[in-house]
Amino acid sequence: MQDSRVAPENAAAEREHPAGTTDSAEKRGTQDTGHATPAPIRTTPPAEKSEEHEPDYPTGLKLFMIGLGLCFAVLCSNLDRSILGVATPQITTEFGSFGDIGWYGSAYLLTSCCSQMFFGKVYAHFDVKRIFLSALAVFEIGSVLCAAAPSSDCLIVGRAVAGLGATGISTGALLIISRSMPVSQRPKYTAMIGAAMGVRLPEKSRQDKAISWAQFARKLDLVGNIILLPAVVCLLLALQWGGTIYAWNNWRCILLLCIFGVVSLVWAVIQVRGGDNSTVPMRLLKIRSILAATWFAFCIFGMLFIQSYYVPIWFQAVGGDSAYTAGIKLLATTAEMTVFFPIAGLMTTAMGYYVPSMIAGSVVSAIASGLMLRFGVGTSTAYWAVALVLSGVGFGFGGQQCMMVPQTILQGDDIALGTSVIMFAETLSGSVFLAVSENVFETRLMRELTVRAPAANPAAVIANRASGLRSAMSKLYDPQTVDGILDSFVEALQPVWITGLVLAALSLIPWRDTVMIPDSAPIRVAISGGGLAGASLIRALLKYSHIDVHIFESSAAFKEAGMAVGVTRNALAALDLMGSSAAQCLERAGAVAMRGVRMLLAEGAGAGSVIDEADYTTSGGQRLTSIVHRADFLRELLADVPQERMHASKKLDRVEEGPGQSLTLHFADGTTHECDILVGADGIHSTVRKLVLGADDPAVSPRNSGMWTAMTLQPYAAAQASIGEDAVNFDDPYEHVWVGRASFLIHNLLGNGQLVQFVIAAKEDEAEGSDRWVRTVSAEEIRKTYQNWPPHLVKAVDSLLCQQPEHPAMYLWEHHIPARTYVSGPIAIMGDAAHATTPWQSSGGGMSLEDSLVLSTLLGRATTPAEARLALQAYDQVRRPRTQRIVESSRVTGAILTGADGLAQPYVKEPGTLLRRWDFIIDLDVEQHAKEAVELMDQLKREGTA
Ligand SMILES: Cc1cc2nc3c(=O)[nH]c(=O)nc-3n(C[C@H](O)[C@H](O)[C@H](O)COP(=O)(O)OP(=O)(O)OC[C@H]3O[C@@H](n4cnc5c(N)ncnc54)[C@H](O)[C@@H]3O)c2cc1C
Repeated sequence: MQDSRVAPENAAAEREHPAGTTDSAEKRGTQDTGHATPAPIRTTPPAEKSEEHEPDYPTGLKLFMIGLGLCFAVLCSNLDRSILGVATPQITTEFGSFGDIGWYGSAYLLTSCCSQMFFGKVYAHFDVKRIFLSALAVFEIGSVLCAAAPSSDCLIVGRAVAGLGATGISTGALLIISRSMPVSQRPKYTAMIGAAMGVRLPEKSRQDKAISWAQFARKLDLVGNIILLPAVVCLLLALQWGGTIYAWNNWRCILLLCIFGVVSLVWAVIQVRGGDNSTVPMRLLKIRSILAATWFAFCIFGMLFIQSYYVPIWFQAVGGDSAYTAGIKLLATTAEMTVFFPIAGLMTTAMGYYVPSMIAGSVVSAIASGLMLRFGVGTSTAYWAVALVLSGVGFGFGGQQCMMVPQTILQGDDIALGTSVIMFAETLSGSVFLAVSENVFETRLMRELTVRAPAANPAAVIANRASGLRSAMSKLYDPQTVDGILDSFVEALQPVWITGLVLAALSLIPWRDTVMIPDSAPIRVAISGGGLAGASLIRALLKYSHIDVHIFESSAAFKEAGMAVGVTRNALAALDLMGSSAAQCLERAGAVAMRGVRMLLAEGAGAGSVIDEADYTTSGGQRLTSIVHRADFLRELLADVPQERMHASKKLDRVEEGPGQSLTLHFADGTTHECDILVGADGIHSTVRKLVLGADDPAVSPRNSGMWTAMTLQPYAAAQASIGEDAVNFDDPYEHVWVGRASFLIHNLLGNGQLVQFVIAAKEDEAEGSDRWVRTVSAEEIRKTYQNWPPHLVKAVDSLLCQQPEHPAMYLWEHHIPARTYVSGPIAIMGDAAHATTPWQSSGGGMSLEDSLVLSTLLGRATTPAEARLALQAYDQVRRPRTQRIVESSRVTGAILTGADGLAQPYVKEPGTLLRRWDFIIDLDVEQHAKEAVELMDQLKREGTA
């Protein structure tokens, strides 16, 4: 038996498709089987044209005050980060604490890094303004402790407290920006970070959500955060001691590194298993742009921290400058940063891309780091000034722009989490590379001193390494030894500069993976149809600011009729890849993850035996399927879609090509809408399919498969009483599939386990190929169909479906003739409009989600309407073969599951083989599938420009 299994079609959720109408959703709402409650979501009043307006963002003076306040707060925390580099040599001289240098920077960065995720989570769950102000207070307390510190130890504690507050300030500032203005405005404001004064945050605080302390601790990943701290401390201690105080092979160093390794491993396991509650949610790192931005931040900030600590040391120790003079000289870097942060922000806003600024940042930083390799005794002012200015320009270009990535591609609470992940990388890199630099510097200095200044006492040299080294050494040693000491310093700084150079170069690596987001010339995309396909597509497209997407639904409300839909592993993966919050939709919609699926024989010899079975554990811990209420799922998919982009009562009637290859959509109410790309997600009766294939194409019409289905949704307790406690058990949720003779039954759980869906289906040969969409089935016919089934199911069918004389039922339809294409020029079809299928393999909705992922990924890469057409072509070529194979497979599976023509017999005779029919569907590497589509689009682009 293969281990990658999933539930078969639960044939569950119901829809009705009255013949002769294209407005199926509305009809489904009224002709539903009566058990589901269609959930209207939002509608917009009919409008002549789609008008953009930004919701609820503060403007004018209020926005200015927010900006100003944030600027002041962030200025303080950033100043605190960098100012210590200049003051460190003086401080160590005063406290006689040269061994603590690494800790001054690292203590700040360590608490900063370990609390990064904590703040990300806290901001995601509590009132942003209060948390921001509390962080500011903590930062001030830390700063006062530092200012009044009587000893080196007290200073380190103060630095740690200040680091904690500073993290809350910077994470909060970016979050406040993301909630105070539209994405197109964020780059320039991110560059001029601003404040909390009078902030009215559009998103309500979630403090009112009642959560227990245990949940609270889990949500904040307290265990993960507590574990991370000792891990990093062990690493820093090992780096501080190794090769300087103790040899690297000393047991202390080895022990520290071992503890670091083991604890880090435990932390990593906690992160992987913690899902969304972990400090670094893996699903965020799976988004390549976030991973790329995290890597970029790790490298570029590592370089910055190294330079901001060691350039002052070079000025003071080798150049003989005072801390004050070194600070003034360092302004060459900080002033450029201050100038280039906003320039980069404006550049990104103007170009609509943040990647060019990041690339420029890496390149210029690498040049600056390279120039530092020539820092020596007597380096000219012009030389060091150029190096420092370039360093500031480079960091100014790139440093803030990586923060644009989560703000641009994530939504809702994920922005805070994504920002925290990147800032975590920044601070972790700072604390690690400061310790690394300190280690390589001291080790090399010792070595160089023995060669270049053998007469010098290394301890005395290091104690005076701060300001005035030359004059202090001149009092102790002859001029030749003093020169040797200074040369040793210059040489010892070489590995430090090289580390910075390598980091700057490494920051360039992931730029190809960072989404290029243009927003100056939006591509106008219109989606016709607001079912699962259309809703998931608009959600996926919203993250691209260069796509102006609108969705048009013929019904008066965006709603789903029917009961449950099974979201199989491949569909879950597609949701994950579309963005974290898409996957969270399922959770919020009360989806129940099935532990397993069991397929049993209902009639004939061997009735009651298991034909096939799979569960979570036999699938190697991989997810199988989650059952979700359709209306709840649709509501959550559309929850974050701005109202002005959703248009109800807009039945697409016809489409005209306008000037410049644009399209004019004409709606039944006489209104129009202009777009560049039209995606038909208008279901099995698709109007757009006719446009793509031509009204006379035989593949335009779907076909009645000759099977009807009836279903009911019952409260958990009632269903359990009818079906039996073994079969209906929320603690061990299994989907049960019963294969009969020309009949079928399935039941599963949804609604957070509060509801049970119970579905029957049967073959009706004379209906096959007819134009009938719905029928009623009498209690008598149902009883007769199921009379030879196991007694407990006969009883369940009777009590759940036969209490009324008649029950509504629907026929299952499919696109029996495959479409020759899904695309014609700027028009494409997706979901049931492209590949309506019988529901036997739980795949119609899953295919829609895969369509949305692939289509949105491709459109997201298009920068012009012409490229968007190429995106559609790539979509067609990649999606058509797979989806049409699934439609055909589902047709055959239906015959097997209803026991028609003895097709089930081979599977009954050889148990453990039936579920293999699902393998090619659920085992798809969805990410790779989307990647193939992207490669194809790139190829089409190359061919087009060749
Ligand atoms: C009984 C049954 C059980 C199923 N079970 C599963 C399952 O377990 N798992 C699974 O993955 N899939 C399942 N499916 C399939 C799945 O439900 C569909 O594939 C999916 O809902 C298709 O979504 P869609 O958005 O493409 O189409 P629809 O949901 O039909 O939405 C199309 C929308 O377009 C609107 N529209 C139509 N014409 C126009 C127009 N001219 N202008 C504007 N709007 C228009 C309609 O009103 C409707 O809202 C099942 C299907 C059935 C019938």
